[in-house]
Amino acid sequence: MVVGVLVELSNKNIDKVFDYNVDSNLQNLIKLGIRVKVPFAHQTLEGFVVEIKESSNIELKSIIDVIDTDVVLNSELLKLGKIMQEKTLSTLISCYQVMLPKALKAKNGTIINKKYDIFYKLGNIDIKLTDKQKEVIELFNNKELVSRKEIINIYSNIKSLIDKKVLIEVKKEHYRLDYKDSILKKYSLTLEQQNVVDIVNNSNDLVYLLHGVTGSGKTEVYMELIDKVLKENKTAIVLVPEISLTPQMVKRFSERFGNNIAALHSALSEGEKYDEWRRINKGEVKIVIGARSALFAPLNNLGLIVIDEEHSDSYKQDDSNPKYDAIDMAIERSKLNDGCKVVLGSATPTLDSYARAKKNVYHLLTLPNRVNKKPLPKVEVVDMNKEIKNSIGHFSKLLIDKINDKLEKNEQVILLLNRRGYSTFVSCKNCGYTVKCPKCDITLTYHKTSNNLRCHYCGYATNLVKVCPECHEEALSSIGVGTEKIEEELNKIIPSARILRMDFDTTSKKGMHSKMIKAFANHEYDILLGTQIVAKGLDFENVTLVGVINADTSLNIPDFHSSETTFALLSQVSGRAGRSDREGSVILQTYNKDHYAIKYAQEHNYIGFYNEELKIRHTLKYPPFYYIVYIRISSKDNNLAFSESLRIKKSLEKHLSNTIILGPSASNVFKVNNTYRYGIILKYKKEDELINTLNMMIDAYKSNSKVKIDINFNPKHL
Ligand code: ADP
Ligand code: ZN
Repeated sequence: MVVGVLVELSNKNIDKVFDYNVDSNLQNLIKLGIRVKVPFAHQTLEGFVVEIKESSNIELKSIIDVIDTDVVLNSELLKLGKIMQEKTLSTLISCYQVMLPKALKAKNGTIINKKYDIFYKLGNIDIKLTDKQKEVIELFNNKELVSRKEIINIYSNIKSLIDKKVLIEVKKEHYRLDYKDSILKKYSLTLEQQNVVDIVNNSNDLVYLLHGVTGSGKTEVYMELIDKVLKENKTAIVLVPEISLTPQMVKRFSERFGNNIAALHSALSEGEKYDEWRRINKGEVKIVIGARSALFAPLNNLGLIVIDEEHSDSYKQDDSNPKYDAIDMAIERSKLNDGCKVVLGSATPTLDSYARAKKNVYHLLTLPNRVNKKPLPKVEVVDMNKEIKNSIGHFSKLLIDKINDKLEKNEQVILLLNRRGYSTFVSCKNCGYTVKCPKCDITLTYHKTSNNLRCHYCGYATNLVKVCPECHEEALSSIGVGTEKIEEELNKIIPSARILRMDFDTTSKKGMHSKMIKAFANHEYDILLGTQIVAKGLDFENVTLVGVINADTSLNIPDFHSSETTFALLSQVSGRAGRSDREGSVILQTYNKDHYAIKYAQEHNYIGFYNEELKIRHTLKYPPFYYIVYIRISSKDNNLAFSESLRIKKSLEKHLSNTIILGPSASNVFKVNNTYRYGIILKYKKEDELINTLNMMIDAYKSNSKVKIDINFNPKHL
């Protein structure tokens, strides 16, 4: 027997299937999609079995060992990986690796153990037993298995019974996570919700876009659709953005579906992820809820894929290869499962998705009202240009008054500090020098907790000094505003307020995020203050005011998405207010009160925003009118990076006749980790030569150790 093995050659751009012989003692262990160890040059590598063939005439090396007993990549995932490879132009091995939890990736040093619970069954009891030992036997009166713990409780010398073969050990896999049994909580749907459910269930379209305002009951709709899928003996995947994968969300699903769900997200340890993956693989659960990569959960007979908050940029893997889009891949996966549908949901769909729905590529569904006609919150915009005299620190008088008012009524407040494109950096008051990373072209960010300066690109850290290295004055100080600064101000303005600060710093420790959410839900705090993290998916009954400290900072990012992301952020965070009986209100503080993203967010007017933004995209030739490919050329040698970029551009111009080619220009962050980066942007509607041309380019640089090429289709950030 001969197998084709796709090996992991860490980070080399080599993607090849090598043939190996299988010795007779291993042959009955071989299946497609398991991992094996193989000799390769002078090392031992791990790889996936992707082909099984009859023997070959050529002399081949033999595989060293078989790693898995169960299939790791089933036939569906094997196919899906190939599609991902074609769509991203990444290596096939990277596409397979991204689908798997760390414990199941090829070639990785850490070994994650299965955990077992020990049970016993009865063996030979026809021997003389002591009274205590007889008590042990009685435990088995109406049970086949009894846990070790239970036995030890009454009799500690368990070993003697094992030695005499009275008790026989039975190991059962122990999963690190457990869900409570279902208490089957469900609402009867409103007419609007039922209508949406009926349309999905009764039509034959593949992809649906559910445009429903915040609090319109989209989650209830998803659960009803899943219910139907389960009744047909099929399975479902629900994707949510990482940061909204809160205990609240998981709780809602487990209350309805009990033990039938598995949750996959980054707060789990690698061991927990592995356990969840195996429960899924064994068919012990029918619903998987998780962040982006949960799309690749090994469920069989998939009937539905839900992508909640479909506008979230977390569905695109932008920072490492393969740069895949989970929405694209969800649609591909549904095509591999007969009758499987995809439902995308959002209060603020991306322009791309909404345009597709308008053209009937997706089936558009709407929930224009909140459940039971609760009003959307009233949004007031405060012009900070005029407020400067009246404001205290970053707080306008109106916002302070409102917060005080809510706290008097014993209600709660969410405050958002929009930190996108904004951070606390250190600069010299005397000469204007700003402290930058020595390896990257970016300012260092000041972290108060650790009292040091850190680079968010390469991890470089340095102590804070007071003396400016340029002018030697003792005049360095931090500029910009972080959540810590806002908390300090707020403590002075309203000393009695109990403030909970939530940002990527305070939630990085495992379990902190969910602890904080619980504490806030229990009203242990009055004000939840945070970054983007507070904008998504939270549902607190008692929150009646949402304040945005600086609505417009994200408008200043030099990226054509910036209006869209700002509008979405403001709409989403506003949606956290007034979700129960009491009416909610929102205050947006801004220096750009006339900007359309802010005006339409104030009016809760998605369609208005969509139409206006669409015109701009049309004029500037951006998506959804054009597709975009971003090519990044990088090298430690700046001159080389630039000259190669020019060469690539020339060659692209020769091959691509229907494409607009922009650049090369220095990337937004030009230098990272001593590597210089240039970008070329391609815009096209239809370009037959594109894939061939890009593949040629990739091949040409494959073995170039000085210059690296990186391709990103439809990037979420430029
Ligand atoms: P969305 O996901 O659209 O923001 P949710 O699904 O979170 O909305 O629903 C908003 C609130 O309304 C939740 O507290 C939910 O429990 C409640 N809800 C949803 N559907 C119903 C219904 N049919 N009857 C009563 N309450 C509902
Ligand atoms: Zn750096």
